[in-house]
Amino acid sequence: MPVIEGPVRASEVPAWDSSADVVVVGLGVAGACAGLEAHRAGADVLVIERAGAGGGASALSQGQFYLGGGTDVQRACGYSDSPEAMYSFLRAVTTTGDEDSLRVFCEQSVAQFDWLEAQGVPFAREAYRHKAVYVRSGEGLLSTGNEKVWPFREVAPPAPRGHQVSGDGEISGGYIAMKALLGTFEREGVPAIYDAAVTGLVQDDDDRVVGVTVMSAGRASFVQARRGVVLAAGSFNLNPELTSENIPLFSRFGKPLGEPTNDGAGLLLGRSVGVAEKGMSGVVATASIYPPEDLIKGIVVNAAGERFMPEDAYHGRMAANIARQPDAVAYLILDEEIFAYPKHGSHTFVDAFETVDEMEHALGVPVGSLAGTLAAYNSDVEAGEDSAFHKHGDWLKVLTAPYAVFDISIPRSDYHWMSLGGLWTDEWARALRPDGTPVPGLYAAGACAAHLAQDGDEYASGMSLAAASLFGRRAGAHAASDGANRGAATHG
Ligand SMILES: Cc1cc2nc3c(=O)[nH]c(=O)nc-3n(C[C@H](O)[C@H](O)[C@H](O)COP(=O)(O)OP(=O)(O)OC[C@H]3O[C@@H](n4cnc5c(N)ncnc54)[C@H](O)[C@@H]3O)c2cc1C
Repeated sequence: MPVIEGPVRASEVPAWDSSADVVVVGLGVAGACAGLEAHRAGADVLVIERAGAGGGASALSQGQFYLGGGTDVQRACGYSDSPEAMYSFLRAVTTTGDEDSLRVFCEQSVAQFDWLEAQGVPFAREAYRHKAVYVRSGEGLLSTGNEKVWPFREVAPPAPRGHQVSGDGEISGGYIAMKALLGTFEREGVPAIYDAAVTGLVQDDDDRVVGVTVMSAGRASFVQARRGVVLAAGSFNLNPELTSENIPLFSRFGKPLGEPTNDGAGLLLGRSVGVAEKGMSGVVATASIYPPEDLIKGIVVNAAGERFMPEDAYHGRMAANIARQPDAVAYLILDEEIFAYPKHGSHTFVDAFETVDEMEHALGVPVGSLAGTLAAYNSDVEAGEDSAFHKHGDWLKVLTAPYAVFDISIPRSDYHWMSLGGLWTDEWARALRPDGTPVPGLYAAGACAAHLAQDGDEYASGMSLAAASLFGRRAGAHAASDGANRGAATHG
């Protein structure tokens, strides 16, 4: 666990070593966006980054931003979308109670896309029209969620919203995005210090957050924040205590996505002053069966030999459903026509089987179970409708012997995951107490805040970077203006 102290009372601070209007903790995507907006709003900003340079997990990421509502990329690629359609889909797929944040996320999405491009983040006007987890072949748009999956395709017209930062195929989109954002950040002269960890918050007698404690080169110091502190310190994915407590299955069997400083410091800083936490057991995991997309034409069954979901679901939704099966066991069953190894290499090939009996025996599923499942599925396919789970017609195909099986169980595959829980915030990224009131002077954005999606069922790739950048900006802008307004109100 990172050592987080306090909070310290402002009256106990012997002297402020330095001060700024807005202090931003961490320089990943959320911190860069918060720092830029606060700086442009005229605030005197200081970003404090624990590593030797900015970037965080954001720079390691694939660089997919979930944006929609009719962005220029969507229009150029021939897709129509609207903020209402984006909202209807996300409202149907997520269970978040943060209605205002969800609305802002959809209504501001086109403007957020424009803003990212204006900072130099590149998105090609070309779509990838097959199923993929991410692309590095230069396209700027692909489908990264459950938009075409039943029942969501009936709720809102499906549109691809995964905006993929374009590159040369070698470097990750996240690196390219952060290079652009940090380049703008540096050109505009937003002050930042590095190799400096925020270790605690300072509160005044009204519980307003008015500063932070910092540890750098073995020396502790106090930095005053006259208008606000923005926590943008990333996830707790690399904190074994927090992950084993909150995400036991994936923490035990999967591999966390992130970098070493994603150890929950932001969460613990918020916790130290009573910020509520939301969705802490939420996780999105992936060990996708596609590409190649023909594998979606197979069926996925559990240890009872029964299907339990449509196989065309987003890969994070599939992992969430597998996690709910007995012992988190699942198998992908293919036939000769569609057989291929999943490209991401996360699953073990079990064997090929001439008959269903042999396959049942080898997998240890109840005798007759797979025979019944295959018969029902094939009969549905012939009738043109997956009556059990409504897999899209694009992926319906009669499966015939010989068969092949991949073990896609969570304990025996290579699932990568990231946490979705974190500090509770509102639509301005203000950090909220359990009663819903903001802790004055404190904001949280990015992966230290709770995501809009509560679980892999609800997530779409790109929702993290999109929300971190949007709510990072809103935190920076609000912190800059909140303090100014407070000052104006105070001085009548
Ligand atoms: C391999 C990979 C691929 C991914 N792909 C995608 C994707 O394509 N799309 C998507 O939406 N999401 C993706 N994600 C998730 C996404 O990258 C993160 O959710 C997002 O980058 C979080 O941004 P952030 O600014 O909150 O945190 P980070 O980018 O992690 O930045 C946090 C910063 O805070 C610093 N810090 C930590 N503690 C302190 C402290 N005490 N004091 C000062 N500084 C501190 C850290 O050093 C770090 O620089 C991916 C993640 C990984 C690892």
